Amino acid sequence: MTVSSHSSTARPVNTVQGALPYECLGITDAHNHMWIEAVPGADSGAPVLNHFPLILKELNEYRDRGGKTLLDCQPQGCGRDGNRLLALSKASRVNLVACTGFHRKKYYPQDHWLWSATPEKICDFLCSEMEQGLLESRDTPTPVKAGFIKIALESAWADCLQAGLEGVASAAAKLNSLVEIHTERGALAEKAFIYFTNLGLSPPQLVFCHMDKRPDVGLHKELARLGVLLEYDTFYRPKYDPSLNLWPLIECMASSGFSDRIALATDMAEADLYRSIGGGAGLASFPGEIQDQLIEKGIPETARKQMLGGNIARRLAGLN
Ligand SMILES: [Zn+2]
Repeated sequence: MTVSSHSSTARPVNTVQGALPYECLGITDAHNHMWIEAVPGADSGAPVLNHFPLILKELNEYRDRGGKTLLDCQPQGCGRDGNRLLALSKASRVNLVACTGFHRKKYYPQDHWLWSATPEKICDFLCSEMEQGLLESRDTPTPVKAGFIKIALESAWADCLQAGLEGVASAAAKLNSLVEIHTERGALAEKAFIYFTNLGLSPPQLVFCHMDKRPDVGLHKELARLGVLLEYDTFYRPKYDPSLNLWPLIECMASSGFSDRIALATDMAEADLYRSIGGGAGLASFPGEIQDQLIEKGIPETARKQMLGGNIARRLAGLN
């Protein structure tokens, strides 16, 4: 496995309100959810996040604390609504970056087209959402383009949507786009790295999500050396004991010179994590207490800026 070289020309980042230079993204939550419509026929436990005024309130608070951008990780067919994201972004003046791709199977109605589609059809669909606009926004006066591809792995490789993986590899290779990969507690990251790089993607195109649920520092350093971005987001998930796992991991990776390989996020798909909806930490905790804690722990400013947005912004722009 080698770290392939990557384009040094930045391209603009497609936010829901249009293209922006990556330097404008500022503090950016690398993996979150700002809207999830209820999906008839999906798993009864699937999260729903559809209270517009309260979500807007959280985004306003996020902005007031210094946050500028968030990535929305809900792909088409499992609750995404790009038109709502656009309305939220306009009203809050926070940049939102929408995704195309696919989530875990349980979040879709059983007869959703993805689960019987060919890799070619999936690739065409992803490219159309990146280049022309999200399906639900295409016939509006202001189509919203996807800014990246989000996919989900299951716990076992054989259970993953194989045509989806192939379709994503083709689309991402063609458009040089960023792929955020949901992992089940870090499982299959090594496998997915080999799979996608064998199909022509470069490591800087890959973001492995929820890796702090598998706080194996040797593995993290190895993946970081290979050039991928590792996304950590268990700040407000007590069952993963963030003070024992996530925080030492951040400190260790930063002090080992890997602050350019970490993207922090809060992944508040469950409405309970929103302050105004469920009394949770809320979106503003990212530019707020998470940033404060990084300062308190003595993480240098350059590293903080990288982890709180700089890294994900560069990757969205096609840089390493
Ligand atoms: Zn998520």
